[in-house]
Amino acid sequence: MSRVAIVGGGLSGLAAAYALSRRAAEPWRASGAAPDVVLIERAARFGGKIHTARRDGLIIERGPDSFLARKPAIRALIHALGLTDMLAAVGPEGRGSYIWHAGRLHAIPEGLSAGIPTRLRPLFATSLLTPRGKLRAALDLVISRGPEGDESLGAFLERRFGHEVRRRIAEPLLAGIYAGDVDRLSLMATFPQFKNLERAHRSLLLAMFRARRAHPAASTSPRYGASAPDPKTHLPFAGGAEALPPWPEAVRGSTFLSLKGGLADLVEALEKALEEGGTQLVRGVGVQSVRRDGEVYRLILDDGATIDADALILAVPPTEARRLFGAGGAPFDALAASTAYASVANVALWFDERVMHRLPPGSGFVVARGEGRRIAACTWTTRKWPHTTPPGQALFRLYIGGAGDDTAERLDDESLIALARAELQATLGIAEAPVGALPTRWLGAMPQYAVGHLDRLKALRKALAETLPGVFVAGSAYDGVGLPDVAESGRRAAEAVQRYMESVKGDRR
Ligand SMILES: Cc1cc2nc3c(=O)[nH]c(=O)nc-3n(C[C@H](O)[C@H](O)[C@H](O)COP(=O)(O)OP(=O)(O)OC[C@H]3O[C@@H](n4cnc5c(N)ncnc54)[C@H](O)[C@@H]3O)c2cc1C
Repeated sequence: MSRVAIVGGGLSGLAAAYALSRRAAEPWRASGAAPDVVLIERAARFGGKIHTARRDGLIIERGPDSFLARKPAIRALIHALGLTDMLAAVGPEGRGSYIWHAGRLHAIPEGLSAGIPTRLRPLFATSLLTPRGKLRAALDLVISRGPEGDESLGAFLERRFGHEVRRRIAEPLLAGIYAGDVDRLSLMATFPQFKNLERAHRSLLLAMFRARRAHPAASTSPRYGASAPDPKTHLPFAGGAEALPPWPEAVRGSTFLSLKGGLADLVEALEKALEEGGTQLVRGVGVQSVRRDGEVYRLILDDGATIDADALILAVPPTEARRLFGAGGAPFDALAASTAYASVANVALWFDERVMHRLPPGSGFVVARGEGRRIAACTWTTRKWPHTTPPGQALFRLYIGGAGDDTAERLDDESLIALARAELQATLGIAEAPVGALPTRWLGAMPQYAVGHLDRLKALRKALAETLPGVFVAGSAYDGVGLPDVAESGRRAAEAVQRYMESVKGDRR
């Protein structure tokens, strides 16, 4: 019997295991050719950065709190796992948010797509920009295309919309996703749709104007790339050719979605399905090293046990993948060296619900850089995700750190809580002592795709095929950091393993 080993039990490793599991890969299983699957996670729990704490009746997300609804991979996974009844949409009072600039909150102008303006009128009306900044932004309509090839996200934003839109609007919104420095992040690895629109239409504002004219129904919520056809029309995690159903009516229209019991619902459902499907789940012990022994990869675990596998999915960052192979890990060098990792922290604070009456409408704010604040963002979680909070309480989450800010690394728990409380008082005037507080630190957790990332990734996959056949990578260090991208990365790695194992078997026949 052949075996596939998956190293790392975050969402990418879990999704890869699920795609290979009996339930999902039924036709392959039925043919008798499918391998055994073992998933190995160093921590005591699966989920990696997905980490839900259930405390005082509250659902506190210590890592991600939601996912982008429009991406198909996560929809497929949630349907296949039967979790659609558990979906939670953004609360009716949670729509709309702010940017902290010049000592106060400014409503985020309407018509932004991924932080980039799509309409001129709300841009001209916003209090975030000076008249000069507004005129500069409108120049997007007339300036010519930029250079071919990759560039930094910051350079692109500055070039098309000018300094003010970049610094005060786009950067705080986009940087939040990567906890990153937009001057180092690769445009092609983060928001390639912007570059593609520039290529096709020259001006991004013009591109959106044309898209709205062609599809007037979509005009209330224009989105870059929305007119591109969705390539996934089937339910890839179910193994068959079923159509991918839409989200249930009750949650449709919410840009982000979560799960009523917290995102840990997804992890728990995956674990259950994997266990039932016969996947071997190993937790609480990591892989120490990997040795190639003829056609087999031998995994040596932290406790000295060994596992032999015919193919490997490394759902861990390239630095860790490189370490596992020792001298044989040269293919990972370039990506490992070019990808920095930012450290972040967040602090959940909960209060008596009466503090909510003092908040403006909406669900939180992000902070532009250089504004003298020590937080990057603050979410009024109760408003945004009502399912997280029982009656009588009010839950907030404050975000700290990111690229170029080592606060998350320096401060202990008490200092993080004190910082969060001081910032809540300075920005929203909430001076009361919280009922409870939960700080979470994620050190070196947020990969920063540098300019040229996609080329280095392609070279890595090519080098692996040539020098370590049967070894594949998946996860947030490679194919996108959002949960849907991470799930899709795992699914694709599973597909690559299936293709590889079938080709090896064909060669041996
Ligand atoms: C604070 C925070 C908020 C976020 N918010 C959002 C959000 O709201 N929405 C969203 O879409 N995304 C969000 N993200 C991003 C998203 O959570 C991550 O990109 C995603 O969870 C990463 O999944 P992964 O499987 O690639 O890696 P991980 O979750 O990091 O999993 C990797 C796993 O590998 C294990 N491992 C490492 N080495 C070994 C070894 N040698 N042997 C065995 N196991 C090993 C680790 O213990 C870990 O569990 C957020 C991230 C953070 C940190």
